Amino acid sequence: MTGGSRGIGAAIARKLAAEGADVALTYERAASRAAEVVASIEGLGRKALAIQADSADADALTAAVDQAAEALGGLDVLVNNAGVFPIGTVEDLSLADFDRALAVNVRAVFVATQAAVRHLRTGGRVITIGSTLGERVTGPGMSAYSASKAAVVGMSRAFARDLGPRGITSVVVHPGPTDTDMNPADGPHAASILALSAAGQHATPDDVAATVAHVAGPAGAFITGSTITVDGGVNA
Ligand code: NDP
Repeated sequence: MTGGSRGIGAAIARKLAAEGADVALTYERAASRAAEVVASIEGLGRKALAIQADSADADALTAAVDQAAEALGGLDVLVNNAGVFPIGTVEDLSLADFDRALAVNVRAVFVATQAAVRHLRTGGRVITIGSTLGERVTGPGMSAYSASKAAVVGMSRAFARDLGPRGITSVVVHPGPTDTDMNPADGPHAASILALSAAGQHATPDDVAATVAHVAGPAGAFITGSTITVDGGVNA
């Protein structure tokens, strides 16, 4: 999986390991946090490895996927999770931030999936972490991020068509506000975000991980080309 060192990705890595998976995860900078996740997975008796690879670097990301497949003896599930969240209105957002969002949140999903399908077995899964902000924009400053998360919905549906004949599914899981470094439950925007929430609170990373594990497991075998929202009713 991409971006497994912190937040939602770390929770997914631990959950899949708890359900019996060996896990390879990438990270960009947080080597010690990635090492903690690896140690906790090894504590569950599963194999784990962390690979430094900037998702915006296609060669590095492809090499990371190949390294993961080599170390784990093939692949059953790819989770495209790594993401960045640039905030800025159309008057303010820099082109560099826009390009970075597209590179990490969209292009890398294509790159990692293209690399992974060379290793994925029949029955494999491609699970991409989207966002409710890809479906409904609830405030200003989201143009790059919302564009990127809308883009992965179309791409994931297309992957489902491409990979269906090989028995590989492709699904987007859309978290709503989830308590991580990206969107802390005690952050300055929390009150306005939660005004939209039916549940009235942020999700935990474990809430999102539980749905990813469902899609990755036997119960997810016939879910493909779909989006699944885990948002406490923010987009209701
Ligand atoms: P965090 O910022 O807490 O963690 C981001 C993770 O992605 C880290 O592991 C980080 O690695 C990794 N990452 C970021 N950029 C890169 C890169 N260029 N190359 C490799 N790895 C990278 O984010 P969340 O856990 O909150 O978000 C995870 C996903 O969920 C993202 O796709 C995000 O858009 C989505 N999401 C999050 C929501 C929320 O409210 N938190 C809501 C909806 C969607 P490192 O630690 O090395 O920096």
